[in-house]
Parts: sequence; structure tokens; C-alpha cells
Amino acid sequence: MLFTHHSSLLTPGPTPVPLSIQSAMNLPMVGHRSKDFETIAKKAFSSLKPVFGTDNDVLILSSSGTSALEASLLNIVNKDDHIVIIVSGAFGQRYQQIAETYFSNVHIYNVEWGSALHVKDIIDFIKGLEVSITAVFTQYCETSTAVLHPVSSLGQALHEFDPSIYFVVDGVSCIGAVDVNMKQDHIDVLVSGSQKALMLPPGIAFVAYSNRALKRFKDVDTARFYLDLDKHYQSLEKSSTPFTPNITAFRGVIEYCRLVEDEGFKQVVERHYKIRDAIRKALKALDLDLLVDDANASPTVTAFIPNDKEEVNEIKSRLKNDFNITIAGGQGKLKGEILRVGHMGFISPFELLPFVVSLEIILTNYRKKSYIGAATKVYSEVLMHEL
Ligand SMILES: *Cc1c(COP(=O)(O)O)cnc(C)c1O
Repeated sequence: MLFTHHSSLLTPGPTPVPLSIQSAMNLPMVGHRSKDFETIAKKAFSSLKPVFGTDNDVLILSSSGTSALEASLLNIVNKDDHIVIIVSGAFGQRYQQIAETYFSNVHIYNVEWGSALHVKDIIDFIKGLEVSITAVFTQYCETSTAVLHPVSSLGQALHEFDPSIYFVVDGVSCIGAVDVNMKQDHIDVLVSGSQKALMLPPGIAFVAYSNRALKRFKDVDTARFYLDLDKHYQSLEKSSTPFTPNITAFRGVIEYCRLVEDEGFKQVVERHYKIRDAIRKALKALDLDLLVDDANASPTVTAFIPNDKEEVNEIKSRLKNDFNITIAGGQGKLKGEILRVGHMGFISPFELLPFVVSLEIILTNYRKKSYIGAATKVYSEVLMHEL
């Protein structure tokens, strides 16, 4: 039986898009070489600064998040450079794949899936390589495991170890939900995508950069064309883009930034952490193990471990077929082992209640043990303490 016609999208991207963003994106088209678009572009580039924790305007690419990952490699790394890629899940593997497509001196630092990177180990790993490292690449939130890495500590440690190393961070699944500060965290390039915590439709990507990185974009001689970030920056300075941009999505960016300013960015971040804490307690109350420990859990996505593969399938398909709720399965080697619930962007604690109630019903039926009220009780209690 279908309990509701109202569908709920709780995947770690794409995420629900607020109506006001949809409406902003419905305005009549303008030419991209017009004053109209210059006004839009200027506003979009500059409004993103607080969300990316930077004083520089943020570049917008009309392509998905992966293009920004690729751009971050092509515009920082030269042919003979040695780089380190931290691989802690499926998106780390993607960084590795892109890097190995273009470069030969790629050193992989593996982190156990579900664990957070260990700062001191990484510095020791780099020392042990006994070559000069040009750049270190990592995910901020590894979406496939729901870990939020201690990017700030790593940035500071790398800076202390060798300030010439470029620190490049994939923040696709957490920018917009975490308190990042590129200067303090010593991040040189911070990339993101539109369809995760930034609650926009898929299709555009973002690159924030330090002044040092900006100079590097100009100096690097690796072949690139569409993803030449220096070219994008030259256009940005003229409130423009080198190629036809996704004009519609630029308007969405402006509306997104307006919504964030309205709520207050600090509040936006706190809301994500509040939801994370409540949902983790609720899942534990349902005897569901969590993949990530409390200290390293992302505020944007939570991974949990049902008893076996059958239970994984039961939960995912019942949520979809009976309750109209979509969550995500595992990726790569975690496929069939875990489930992931996304809680980022246009979401408030109450929007997750139907998910919590549905899980109580599904598990009560499936395990023949009553969970009715068990998860909602702790969920409400966490929220109550926040008032
Ligand atoms: C979703 C995601 C990407 C890829 O973004 P696309 O828009 O699908 O290209 C990259 N990195 C992380 C951490 C992600 O969550």
C-alpha cells in the first residue's frame, strides 16, 4: 500500500530544490553576452564567498561536479609532478582514476572505508615517499562512506610540513553544510557541485581558490581547454564566462545565496549537525549499526548497516514502494552492505520524521519485534534539547 503521494528524496545528491530556486530559474532567458547576464554572473560569483569560506569570487563551471575534480588536477599539476591522493571511498577512487588518466607520479594513500584520514600518518607517508610532493588531494566528505574528514587539521599539518604543497579538497557533498575557512584551513582549491548541499539542480560545479592557486592556474602547462581555470578566471573578472554558461542555474545560485543569507549561514550549518545527531540516535534505537563513529560523521549523509543483504533490500524497497521515500545504497565494495540517507540542503528535522516512522514500521514487520515509537522518541528528544 502506498502511504503517501508526497515523495521524499533523501539521497546524498541530487537533493530537493526549493520552490523559490525553481521559480528563479524559470525567468525568461537572456543572452550570455548581455549586460543582463553580466549582472547575474557578478552576483553569482560573489554571493558564494561565505559558503566557500573565501575572500575570492567563486568560479562556476557549466558541467557536473566531476569536471571540477578534473579541473583541480589539470590546473595544479604538471607532467612530472608527484602528487598524493587520499582514497577513502568511491569518490577518492574517482580522483585516483582521473589523476592516473593524465599523470604518472600518483601516490595513493589508502584509508579504510568508513574511517577518517589520520593526519600524522599522512605526513609520515609523504616523508616516506622521499620525493617532493606538489599537491595533496582529498575528499572533505567521502559521500560513499558518510565520513567527514578532518580537513582543517590536515591543511594545517601540510602547511607546517611544507608550505609549498597545494592542498586540494573535493567538497562536493558538504560545502553549504560545513564551516570551512580556506585561509585558516590552508586549502588552495576547494571544489563543489550543485546538486548536494547547495540544493540546486545537477549540472554546474564550483571552484574556489587561494591567491597562490590562482597564480598556479596561469603557470601550469598541462594541456586543457574547456577546463582551463585561468581562462575561466579571466572571464570572471569581466563578469562573464568563456563559453555559454548555464544561465538558468546562475540565477538559481543567486537565489540559493539569498536563502542562506536569510537563514544565516551559521544557522544553516547548525541545522545540518542537529539533523545528523538526531538521525544517528534514531538509527541506533532501531538496532541499526552506523558505519562511521560519532567524531567523524558527516552532517550531510549517514550510512547505516542493516543485519544482512535481505534486510538492506527490504528497507530500501519498502521505503520506496510503501512510503515514497528514496534513500541510497552502498557504492563500490559497500554495495549491498549499507544504506545511506542524505540530509542536506533544503531539509529540516521534521522532514526526516516520515523516514524515521517508516523505518520503525518496516523493521517491526520484518524483524517481528516492536520498534514502534522507539526511534521517534529519541529523535524528538534530541530536537527538544536544542530548543
Ligand atoms: C557527487 C560527488 C561527486 C561527483 O559529482 P557529479 O556532479 O556526479 O559529477 C564528486 N565528489 C563527491 C564527494 C561527490 O559526493
